[in-house]
Amino acid sequence: MLIVMQHGATEAEIRRVVATIEEMGYQARPMPGRQRTAVGLVGNDGKVDASRLEALPGVLEVIHVTQPYKQVSREWKAENTVIQFPSGLAIGGDEIVVMAGPCSVESESQIIAAARAVRDAGAVILRGGAFKPRTSPYSFQGLGKKGLELLARAREETGLLIVTEAMDSEGIDLVARYADIVQIGARNMQNFSLLKHAGRIGKPVLLKRGISATITELLLSAEYILAEGNAQVILCERGIRTFESYTRNTMDISAIPVVKKLSHLPIIADPSHGTGRRDKVIPMARAAVAAGADGLLIEVHHDPERALSDGAQSLRPEQFAELMAQLRIIAPAVGRTI
Ligand code: PEP
Ligand code: MN
Repeated sequence: MLIVMQHGATEAEIRRVVATIEEMGYQARPMPGRQRTAVGLVGNDGKVDASRLEALPGVLEVIHVTQPYKQVSREWKAENTVIQFPSGLAIGGDEIVVMAGPCSVESESQIIAAARAVRDAGAVILRGGAFKPRTSPYSFQGLGKKGLELLARAREETGLLIVTEAMDSEGIDLVARYADIVQIGARNMQNFSLLKHAGRIGKPVLLKRGISATITELLLSAEYILAEGNAQVILCERGIRTFESYTRNTMDISAIPVVKKLSHLPIIADPSHGTGRRDKVIPMARAAVAAGADGLLIEVHHDPERALSDGAQSLRPEQFAELMAQLRIIAPAVGRTI
């Protein structure tokens, strides 16, 4: 429920709305806007007496959010969320933000070389898994803490920000100490204790769509993070499982405009996991940007044949540079910069 204040409502009137919401046993989230302030009521269990709020001085109207997710919806917040980093970088604004790097951090020389290559081609964030969710317990599981240290070294070396995955509640605080953005992977999209924990880390979270999750389920998972007080969430379409087996997953490009309409949160696309095939990554990356994605997550490896994970879908550095050159043509055609 959203309590919209009149244009020119006083601070005292806004405070009274907040106090009334709290008295009723709910949380209040004041949101100053360009035109007027709105106060969100969090925790609506269906028993809220709206007339009590409507009658307060300075209140223009009370809006019932019709979607099952509340704080992530456009009804709750009409303007796009823009996530600002101390370096000046922003996700969700005009600029398309490209995150690139290997699937896994494998060694110091590998991650530094990848970081330099993707930065030189125009990426602004380095990706690389230190904790890897693998289908088989016998596959490479990642370097763990050592991988995080190597990512930090690559950041020092190149100035790139870092996005890397946290696999569980036990490990997320450690990951958040190193990462600029904490990734929650597809397999964990409905790990609700991890989502709640991510709501308390005080860092932006990249939430990937589950392998068989609907868009509503993705947005409800994001709601868990916002409900804990962290509004810095970036959604990621990374392909879903369908009957089609030619590609690793089916890249759901249509999810991008759908999410844009339903939510104010930024959404990026991961055509590497979305297709699983190197030669399909560039066309799907182009399509995602044309469809309105706020950024891309792309796997890049110097020697994909010898990669410890996901080599088949990793671009070689020169292919990544070619993709960036193509995106510089597409981005302005859809009103974006890169
Ligand atoms: C990844 O980005 O490395 C990853 C494991 O992706 P997903 O969770 O989408 O499978
Ligand atoms: Mn991968």
